[in-house]
Amino acid sequence: MRELEGKRAVVTGGSRGIGAAVVRRLLAEGAEVLTTARSKTGTVPEGAAFVEADVRTRAGAQAVAEAALQTFGAVDILVDNAGGARPFPHALSIPDEEWLDQLNLNYLAPVRLDALLTPGMRDRRSGAVVHISSAAVPVSAPPFLHYTAAKAALRNYSRGLAMELAPFGVRVNAVSPGRTETPGGEATREQWATLSEGPGQDTTSPPLGRDGRPEDIAEAVLFLVSDRSSWVTGQNLTVDGGEFPVG
Ligand code: NDP
Repeated sequence: MRELEGKRAVVTGGSRGIGAAVVRRLLAEGAEVLTTARSKTGTVPEGAAFVEADVRTRAGAQAVAEAALQTFGAVDILVDNAGGARPFPHALSIPDEEWLDQLNLNYLAPVRLDALLTPGMRDRRSGAVVHISSAAVPVSAPPFLHYTAAKAALRNYSRGLAMELAPFGVRVNAVSPGRTETPGGEATREQWATLSEGPGQDTTSPPLGRDGRPEDIAEAVLFLVSDRSSWVTGQNLTVDGGEFPVG
């Protein structure tokens, strides 16, 4: 018996990178999965239902929730993964619209989708939500301050939602990846490297000797949505090869 047999899952941003690895891992454990991105590409894992939506807007979140409920009738697992960062030379050079964009993508998208899909979990007294934050939160590097601030807010909110939903048997946790080899991660690090000013990047390997693979993160997500973690809620699991000292 695969451990997610009969479960219905939504994973945002599953067309590549960490989200695609999560989709593959959940499918392999027998879950039905619906995923989403702004456009469908050949890299959406086979076997997953797909809806095109931009989760930065309320309408986008609504479209994902409606598609999920139409496809499955109800949702047992929600992985709020879609996200990403764009570096600027200095924290004070980040324009207002970029702050809003990052808050919408990395913080409010999960808040909105949770508001649409967790009431059903609460009513059925069962469900698991995972928020993908970032191991970079405690570092708060100035070129990414809008991103890390949004991801920090996500963790804080994650803890509060966990407390609200715990009496109903719904668990909410965060996973914070370190430097992980994904198209988005690589593109962001290249942009950072080409910035002429601002703090430099740390290019040393994490203590465990390599960067993360999307599958490393997917394994942590699988644990947190499975019954193996049935007494775990309100936590943040940092998966970063030991790179960051706090987290
Ligand atoms: P990728 O850029 O490789 O993949 C992001 C996925 O999200 C794609 O499917 C993308 O599809 C989708 N997406 C992006 N923007 C939107 C949007 N507005 N609406 C709907 N879907 C969207 O990113 P990663 O796999 O690297 O990152 C996944 C998560 O992990 C993010 O939350 C990121 O912040 C976090 N993370 C990643 C790290 C890393 O080193 N890779 C480190 C720490 C955290 P499309 O562009 O077509 O919409």
